[in-house]
Amino acid sequence: MDITAGPSAEIARLAELVGNARSAVALTGAGISVPSGIPDFRTPGTGMWEKVDPMEVAHIDAFRRDPVRFWSFYGQRFATLGGKLPNGAHDALVALERAGLLDAVITQNIDMLHRTAGTRELIEVHGSIASCCCLSCGTHVPLEEVRARLRRAADGVPRCEECERPLKPDVVLFGELLAPHALERARELCEGADVLLCVGSSLEVYPVAALPQLTLGAGGALAILTQGPTPLDGVARVRLNGDVVAELAALTGALGVLA
Ligand code: ZN
Repeated sequence: MDITAGPSAEIARLAELVGNARSAVALTGAGISVPSGIPDFRTPGTGMWEKVDPMEVAHIDAFRRDPVRFWSFYGQRFATLGGKLPNGAHDALVALERAGLLDAVITQNIDMLHRTAGTRELIEVHGSIASCCCLSCGTHVPLEEVRARLRRAADGVPRCEECERPLKPDVVLFGELLAPHALERARELCEGADVLLCVGSSLEVYPVAALPQLTLGAGGALAILTQGPTPLDGVARVRLNGDVVAELAALTGALGVLA
């Protein structure tokens, strides 16, 4: 491989940015989970999102109006995410954190793969499938128990055992606001970052899409490792378009960190 060629020069620049940063933070989206076999629903031709409009079926109003329909869809989503494992990109971020080179991971993903990989400082801005809650009594039910109730339920709706109301995934549905604490923490981290490593995110979904602007506004740099265009490509200090697993492996390699 010619180490002076494009991608390698970008990796070298990225390694220098991360290596010299007082604070590096990662912001991840669906693209980091694609190598784990979880399709990005925005990519045409990938799975069940093809047949439904997520904005309609995964909307809080749909959950309230018709929990059976909501869960006939969301139950499949839980099934799809079951048994998926973190990939080398998740592991590379863990290795960087352990080496003291990454302060936190902010993710839009609900798949729990950063947790499973072992990221310690993790902000899941859209929540995760780790639990469901009862909107009536506030009880939280862990994932395995939700799965058990899903299997037992005749109508496919897992319910609260206290009040029998349908459980809602602890994820931010369309039509819901992000958890204020998570968003506040994410903003703080992005403002304080010398480099924001955007991995596998199209940076199009607000309010998360506004986070890189905070880094830029405070004088920090953006590194974007994502397939496909983003609205911030023109201002990114580093722009990589390939396989995120290979790119992050190259980064940890360049920094001498064992992934
Ligand atoms: Zn309840």
